[in-house]
Formats: sequence, C-alpha cells, structure tokens
Amino acid sequence: MRCYPNTMDIKKNGVYQGILEEQKKKLLEKIASHNKPEDFGSDVDGLDEESDEAEEQGNSLAIAQSLKENVSEIDSALEKIKTGKYGMCSTCNNPVEEEVLDIAPESALCRACKKTF
Ligand SMILES: [Zn+2]
Repeated sequence: MRCYPNTMDIKKNGVYQGILEEQKKKLLEKIASHNKPEDFGSDVDGLDEESDEAEEQGNSLAIAQSLKENVSEIDSALEKIKTGKYGMCSTCNNPVEEEVLDIAPESALCRACKKTF
C-alpha cells in the first residue's frame, strides 16, 4: 500500500531547491549563449544565404524562448518552496508523486493531471 505524505518535509524541499537552482543556472547560461549578437544583413547580394541565416536566427530564438519558459517554471517552483506549497499539484491540490518530482523537480502537476493535458 502506498502512503502519500501530506506535506513534503523541509529537508526534501531543500534538496529540490538545490536541484532547481542548479538547473536554473544552467538554463540561464544556455539562454545567454543563444542571445549572442549576430551580424546579419551585412551581405545584401546573397538572398538565399540571408534566408538561411534568418532561419537559423529563428531557431535560436525559439530555443531561447522555450528555455525561458523552463526558467519561469523553475521560478514558480522555487516560489512554492518559499511559501510551503511545493510538491502540491496546482490543479487538484493533491501531493505530486515523488517519482514525478525526481524526474522533473519543476513539475507543478501530479501524474494524473499531467495525463489529462
Ligand atoms: Zn493533480
């Protein structure tokens, strides 16, 4: 029989907080590397070349965008740790399974709610 804790204990919160802060640091480094200033528009005569560059730029922006979304997920998880709400599903308010948090500490949804998405 499975036993779900009502609240995540403080020690465990600290562990997840460390993981989340480490992940956030890495993400911010990645974002910085995608935000490098590019010198585009310098060669006007090669149209094909230019569209390739634009595509590359677009991909890089898309990657940076999804990384930023990931950072904001981590931020809200860190905020939840501060307010003592970490580990609670934001949809059904039940505790999020530890297996879920171990895989994705920033997860705001329990397994059941994740499936309904
Ligand atoms: Zn849920």
